[in-house]
Amino acid sequence: MDLRRKLFLKRNPYRIGKTAPLFLEAVRRNIASNRDGCSEYARILENCGFSPDDIASEADLAKIPVIPTLYLKRNRLFSVPEKKLAVKATSSGTKGSMSVVGFDRSSLFYGIMMMFRFFSYYRIISPIPVNYIVLGYEPSKHTDMGAVKTAYGTTKFAPALHREYALRDTGSGYEVNVEGIKKALLSYAKSPFPVRFVGFPAYMYFLAKTLRENGISLRLKKRSMILLGGGWKQFAGEEIDREEFFALIRETLGIERERCFEFYSAVEHPLAYVKCKNGHFHVPLYSRVIIRDTKTLEPVPDGQIGLLSFVTPLVSSMPLTSVITDDLAVHSNAECGCGLETPYFDLIGRAGVSGIKTCTAQAAEILGRENK
Ligand SMILES: [Zn+2]
Repeated sequence: MDLRRKLFLKRNPYRIGKTAPLFLEAVRRNIASNRDGCSEYARILENCGFSPDDIASEADLAKIPVIPTLYLKRNRLFSVPEKKLAVKATSSGTKGSMSVVGFDRSSLFYGIMMMFRFFSYYRIISPIPVNYIVLGYEPSKHTDMGAVKTAYGTTKFAPALHREYALRDTGSGYEVNVEGIKKALLSYAKSPFPVRFVGFPAYMYFLAKTLRENGISLRLKKRSMILLGGGWKQFAGEEIDREEFFALIRETLGIERERCFEFYSAVEHPLAYVKCKNGHFHVPLYSRVIIRDTKTLEPVPDGQIGLLSFVTPLVSSMPLTSVITDDLAVHSNAECGCGLETPYFDLIGRAGVSGIKTCTAQAAEILGRENK
């Protein structure tokens, strides 16, 4: 039996309880199947002297050779033939420095089921039709960007009456759609249906600020909602206070603080993390978070800043079992006070590390030399 069925279909994503042994076994099997399907991954494991059976406890998860997202930008690591990939996505970035990830049918199935459970928990999935403002790109044939797909996917959680995009597809590129957004928003405000905003915090802030400057104060329907993903650091040097931001949202759109959700996610780690009311990203039972030293990549103690890395057995078409991002974060096991009892992480920023050297990268270098 595929253990992912048991793990990713749990109703409460934060009740880790007795799922720990299941998680470890799913990780062992995930590494083994990726190793069998991807010769490059097999060589990486071999070069690091690692076998899935080396995982006896939670602490051993940190020993799994970790694949940097930077490595995925330069290498294609697939464990199934490319024709078996049901969907492909790329990270944002200039051409040549994008990660390409691909999911086979089973990874996609469990990923969608997990998201369904996860978003149901937050009551984000709803049968009531809504009008969407997407503060991002309109999907088009000429882009595979994960962020575009995520934003579009987010508009599937409640039936869409209409979608208006801040960046509209012109057929060959994108144009900023300020007038369209304004018009849509004013007409949505008169509609009996709720409105959902999906996109980057920076754009949301810009929109709310523009409304205030124009003296516009709307009272959108009660079930309206804001779904934000991506960094806060995209404001050209402008770091805004979160509380001030939510006050601005309430003032201009009439949407309460608890109806604003902030997510963390990465193309190379297709899970979602939601910020709790105290501003922390709690870890669901689908994954584990390890913070690593920026130089040695060894795990650092709780409370210490390091690189954010994840372990999850979700994906069977690529060795994404243990990945490290270039985001800086801090991990904590302390009581949060929000009601969720799982550990959490706080994002600190981006490392901008270009030379993360792991056992994996070193192995790749060695492989490169051997192949010449
Ligand atoms: Zn919390």
